[in-house]
Amino acid sequence: MSEQLRPLFDERFTEREREAMTIESRFSLLVAKDPSSDCWIWMGNVSRKYGRFFSGRRPMIGERAHRFAFEIAHGPVPKGLLVCHRCDNPLCVNPDHLWAGTSAQNNADRSAKGRSTSGADHWRQRHPERVLRGVRHPMAKHTAAEITEVKRLIADGQRLVDIARETGISKDTLSKIKRGIQWTSI
Ligand SMILES: [Zn+2]
Repeated sequence: MSEQLRPLFDERFTEREREAMTIESRFSLLVAKDPSSDCWIWMGNVSRKYGRFFSGRRPMIGERAHRFAFEIAHGPVPKGLLVCHRCDNPLCVNPDHLWAGTSAQNNADRSAKGRSTSGADHWRQRHPERVLRGVRHPMAKHTAAEITEVKRLIADGQRLVDIARETGISKDTLSKIKRGIQWTSI
C-alpha cells in the first residue's frame, strides 16, 4: 500500500478524544483517499466485500460504510433504493462516486459496464487482492446482527437477488428467512 493510501487513523488520538468526535470525524479517520482514482478507500471493518462502520446510530450493528457516506452527503437513501458505485469499487466511500438507484437501474449500469449479475464480478477480477476469502459462509457462521440486517433489507423491499449478491447468503436461504422458515428466533 502506498504512503498516500494510509488513513489518518486512530493512533494519533486517545480513546477519549475519539469519543468526543462527531460521527463524521470518526468516519473520516477510516478513509484513505486514492489520488489515482479519486476513490476514498474504506480502511475500517469489512464484511462481505463492503465496508462496515459502527456509527452508534444503530447500536451494535455495523452500517454499510458507503451507504453511510451517501447519507451524510446527500441525505437519507430513498426507501427501497440501493446505493451503487460508479467506480465499481465496493470499498469506495466517496459520495461523488455513489448514486441511489433501483435494482433495475443498477443492473442496467452493470450491463453497460460489461458486468453481469450472474457472471464473473469485474471488480473482483481487477482486484483479486481485495476479495475476501470465504464470503459464502454456511449459515452457522452468520451472526445475529447480520441476520437482523438481512431482515431489515428484506423489509425495505430490496430484492433477494440483490441481497444475495451483497451478503453472499444464498437466495434459497434468504427465501427461507423471508418466509419465516429459517432464523425465526432473531
Ligand atoms: Zn470510487
